[in-house]
Amino acid sequence: MPQPELSILETAHAYFNESCDLLEIDDGMREVLLHPWRELSVSLPVRMDDGGIKVFNGFRVQHNGARGPYKGGVRFSPGADADHTRALAMLMTWKTALVDIPFGGAKGGVQVRPSDLSEAELNRLTRRYTQAISHIIGPQRDIPAPDMGTNAQVMAWMMDAYGQLHGYSPGSVTGKPIELGGSYGREAATGRGVCDIAMLAATDAGLDMHGATVAIQGFGNVGSFAARRMEETGAKVVALSDRTCAAYDPAGLDLDQVFEHKARTGTLEGCPWGETISNEQILELEVDILVPAAIEGVITTENAGNIRAKLIVEAANSPITYGADAILKKRGVTVIPDILANAGGVIVSYFEWAQNIQRFRWTLERVNDELHTTISRGYERTRDMAKERNVTHREAAYAVAVDAVVKAIDLRGFI
Ligand code: NAD
Repeated sequence: MPQPELSILETAHAYFNESCDLLEIDDGMREVLLHPWRELSVSLPVRMDDGGIKVFNGFRVQHNGARGPYKGGVRFSPGADADHTRALAMLMTWKTALVDIPFGGAKGGVQVRPSDLSEAELNRLTRRYTQAISHIIGPQRDIPAPDMGTNAQVMAWMMDAYGQLHGYSPGSVTGKPIELGGSYGREAATGRGVCDIAMLAATDAGLDMHGATVAIQGFGNVGSFAARRMEETGAKVVALSDRTCAAYDPAGLDLDQVFEHKARTGTLEGCPWGETISNEQILELEVDILVPAAIEGVITTENAGNIRAKLIVEAANSPITYGADAILKKRGVTVIPDILANAGGVIVSYFEWAQNIQRFRWTLERVNDELHTTISRGYERTRDMAKERNVTHREAAYAVAVDAVVKAIDLRGFI
């Protein structure tokens, strides 16, 4: 009988506990870090366009703030329940610690499918959510950002709703439009960081990025910018998928044509370029680098044995289940974990926040250079720990991050 897969929260706890074993962290500190410091669950009544009222569930989970204000995205998705939000909040604590930016970890969620709402309804829902959590967020407390189902427009509404209560505060959220104090380079940052990390890991694995074949699952913010950046670095994107299917050409996709088709039709279905394959098939292609950049839990104990990529760069949060990770480890597949691979977004969010509180704007070149420097240091810390302890990149990344948070808690001396 195959073992059931662990949930995303159980997975986050399992990796955390393994790092505690490695670092010999005592039971008391484990307890502290297994529990979020604060959780807020809110009901959000919203007047719909047809005059009726609908009530949505919302959450904000602040996992740990020992290293600075809480930081984490807001997800609008039917699956954004309390446990899901807790897991993602915990991942944010490790992510900010691993790349050494002065934040803790948080996450927000509203259980809604944004495409079911009109723009006016989405605006009202976003304002209601912001008002409901406004007493626990703020530029020095907790700074939300976009995640799945939210974007720069949603952040603009959040900033405005927060400002109505507390005065003009551009540093209250990141991922805003440029016109409202957003940072150059923020939109592309996660995808760009994924490529920076892929290049470093490829070099260490003896893979030449120039001409390396890449398959990317997901055509949203992260997947689309990652695809473009991979092409710029000389890699060959052979497959790219959205929710419906994947376009595949072993000789390399013409990204201009694929993007044009997606922009025109809203889907990859019927893409005239390459062969159409399924979202499951894209994961099992024989490529140098596989980038899951869509949703969690796509590489499972069912398909982990069929993965033929040499290197997997986790652009999405938790795309590999706990059981699948063990199979990949046994098979010697190098996996660069989410808390490192997709940290580019929160790094440039940090730059945006720093620009906002200084009332100063950086050039795009400066943002991209500093992103490269910061994420590369995170990679080096991970690689050094992996070598020193003879562990995987995931085990090493968790160890570096957990150690940094434990040290901050100890130094503060409040427990
Ligand atoms: P998005 O909503 O912009 O895009 C998601 C993409 O995944 C879309 O192309 C969608 O069609 C596809 N998709 C949805 N369901 C799918 C399914 N069942 N199978 C295959 N594809 C599916 O989201 P995003 O902002 O690009 O985020 C993607 C992932 O990266 C998420 O796990 C998110 O938490 C993570 N992440 C995002 C950021 C960021 O800055 N946006 C930062 C860090 C981590």
